[in-house]
Amino acid sequence: MSASGSAQVRRILVAGNWKMNLHRESAQAYYQRLRTQATDTKGTEVVLFPPFSLIPLASELLQETPVAWGGQDLHPDDDGAHTGDVSALHLLDWGATWVLCGHSERRRDHLEKDDLVARKVAAAQSHGLVPILCVGETQEEHDRGDTESVLERQLEAAVPQGKAPWTLAYEPVWAIGTGATATPELAQRAHAFLRRTVSSLADAEVAAGLRIVYGGSVKPTNCEALLQEADIDGFLIGGASLDPDSFLDIMRRCGTFV
Ligand code: PGA
Repeated sequence: MSASGSAQVRRILVAGNWKMNLHRESAQAYYQRLRTQATDTKGTEVVLFPPFSLIPLASELLQETPVAWGGQDLHPDDDGAHTGDVSALHLLDWGATWVLCGHSERRRDHLEKDDLVARKVAAAQSHGLVPILCVGETQEEHDRGDTESVLERQLEAAVPQGKAPWTLAYEPVWAIGTGATATPELAQRAHAFLRRTVSSLADAEVAAGLRIVYGGSVKPTNCEALLQEADIDGFLIGGASLDPDSFLDIMRRCGTFV
């Protein structure tokens, strides 16, 4: 993250993506833990992305805590004949303030393309939800040396214009759920490239203030080294966010950088 003395201080974001995991009882116990233990997030911003069915419970139990919640996806339309989908309005019904857009598992499982991801980002912003635009290259693209061209293509399609808040997540697909975390140096190179690209696609001020979080096998044991890098402003955490002990541990470790 940026040094506190620099012109732009970006607040650290710690985000937990539960994906299709946890259920009513385990989620309830988890939210209760956060209610009692995540009372002081020391200036870091914390957000959880539970499955849709567990969002109403979050709105009940995380109310009045510093922990926000959001959807793992949204349909770009407000309402309509789209079986199985939910829209920004459904998320807003339950107090969500964030939403993931273009996660690689949506791109893989639901064949989401860049133009659809762009419409999701726009829909989120038009309703005041903060989108986290997820980008990242596959193993094959990485091995071919295509990382930058893939990131550039994904950004060109979906980088929002204007001043509405948004966040970017760099999630190399080969690092997601594999234990093969990107090294801090490799992640930093990608984050710096993303920031430069956003600067040319949007504007320099937006790019300087934009939080770019890293995702891909983040754990308590590797988060501090990653966070020392100048352009890494927090994390999108999958597996390690399923256990409240490790999520709280990451939150605590990230808090020390504030
Ligand atoms: P992981 O997932 O932490 O389990 O690698 C990250 C993500 O997909 O958001």
